[in-house]
Amino acid sequence: MDYSVVMTSGVAAVLRRHLLQHIRRGEQQEDLCFALWKPSTGETRTTAVLNEVVLPVANERRLHGGASFLPNYLDRVAEAAMSKNAGIALLHSHFTPGWQGMSDDDVDTERSTAPSIFGETGLPLIGLTMGTDGALSARFWTRVGRREYERRWCGSVRVVGDDFDVTFMEELAPAPKYKEMLKRTYSAWGEEKQHTLARLHCGVIGVGSVGAIVAEGLARMGVETISLMDFDTVEEHNLDRLLHATVDDIGRFKVDVAGEQLLKHATADDVDVRLYRKSVTRADGLRAALDCDVLFSCVDRPWPRQVLNMAAFAHYIPVVDGGVHVRVKPDGSMRGAEWGAHVAMPGRACLECLGQFDPANVTLERQGLLDDPTYIEQLREDHELRRNENVFGFALSVSGMMVCQFLSLVVQPAGMGDAGVQTYHFTTGMMDSDVGAACTAECLYCEHLGTGDRFPFPVVEADEANVAPSAVRVPWWAKWRRRVRNWLRLGEAAGSDAGESCG
Ligand SMILES: [Zn+2]
Ligand SMILES: [Zn+2]
Repeated sequence: MDYSVVMTSGVAAVLRRHLLQHIRRGEQQEDLCFALWKPSTGETRTTAVLNEVVLPVANERRLHGGASFLPNYLDRVAEAAMSKNAGIALLHSHFTPGWQGMSDDDVDTERSTAPSIFGETGLPLIGLTMGTDGALSARFWTRVGRREYERRWCGSVRVVGDDFDVTFMEELAPAPKYKEMLKRTYSAWGEEKQHTLARLHCGVIGVGSVGAIVAEGLARMGVETISLMDFDTVEEHNLDRLLHATVDDIGRFKVDVAGEQLLKHATADDVDVRLYRKSVTRADGLRAALDCDVLFSCVDRPWPRQVLNMAAFAHYIPVVDGGVHVRVKPDGSMRGAEWGAHVAMPGRACLECLGQFDPANVTLERQGLLDDPTYIEQLREDHELRRNENVFGFALSVSGMMVCQFLSLVVQPAGMGDAGVQTYHFTTGMMDSDVGAACTAECLYCEHLGTGDRFPFPVVEADEANVAPSAVRVPWWAKWRRRVRNWLRLGEAAGSDAGESCG
């Protein structure tokens, strides 16, 4: 299992302000705080979605060059975690930049705090260290036996929102070596951005006309890990616009056809192409998607779009979405066509608020009506659920826009990482770009931001085994144990050091 931590730019800013406050004033003084998190369970990776910082108030910590928390601070945090069904993370700062290792004291503190936190929340303690540049390193303290906890380093810590920044642990996710093959790519945006781009796990959901081109683009630019997901097979009427597919491929799974070619075309060494003959609307498909750092929504149905929208806002995985809408006159000639691309993620508008899917249509799809020819027949001729024209030229353009939305997010040319909600009008050749688009005040996804596996609505179909990843609950006895402990502690002198962090 791999591990990662993700948070919004807002949370990262609060952490920087607090943890680096002394260092920024030139003092040799670390600081610490706690935060709450929700699990996000992928197929091969578990992520902690850090969604709330609980800053210390007076008499909750001691500063002595290092920093240590007092028991009353942890008590308050544990209370908050239990009431919110969340896990607990402990953060502290160091005096050097970049990914941080741990001192012996760091290890002792986290190892000794892990059992009580697991006991109270049912979730492992997450330890994080911030360098002077704001870069975060992280580890899970996983329970391996009775009172036995082992440290599992996270391969990355991701920050999404106003910016998209990823700090990688070199040992687990080493930067790629320079290759002559990628000379022009390196010289376009420099080594640092290429190192980020190459190490992002990209998931292409839907490998039809648009997805196949997007995947090819990622492989050519040196992305090392690409997941392809589609349950569909190649049909004869796909051949006018499905990159790589030939008559010989009719009947084969689209992911197999694309995957085979990506292995040949990829510029990265040891490229890892993962193929999923699944739908993201099922629990196992969603888990595969949750392994990714960025998702590309190349689907043409409302339900998978809704699932991906949930992944963007509950699990903080940016979703690059695109679509084509061709309008045809009753006589069969073209009235016009529009296509567009945008990124759904915290801080930007979600796909539902942008009108990219209608929840009413999701309900129809879940009832199987969109696959029922008699239902489709009775819709009016120009109904959105009936029209699915697309041609290779339009697919090229929309997938190009999607890849550039992704590049803008990662490369942030001149410090700007938001290309806005783009719509291209085929008739006039004009491109609209709405940079300030936001969700409505009633947006369901904004209300449940960062809830991870504990997003309260079932947006996917359960596995056959029907094991929900959110099955971990706070043990019933934890609340009582806490009350007894608090009661026993009443007599103790306040201020005995329980947690020592970086002495
Ligand atoms: Zn919204
Ligand atoms: Zn430390």
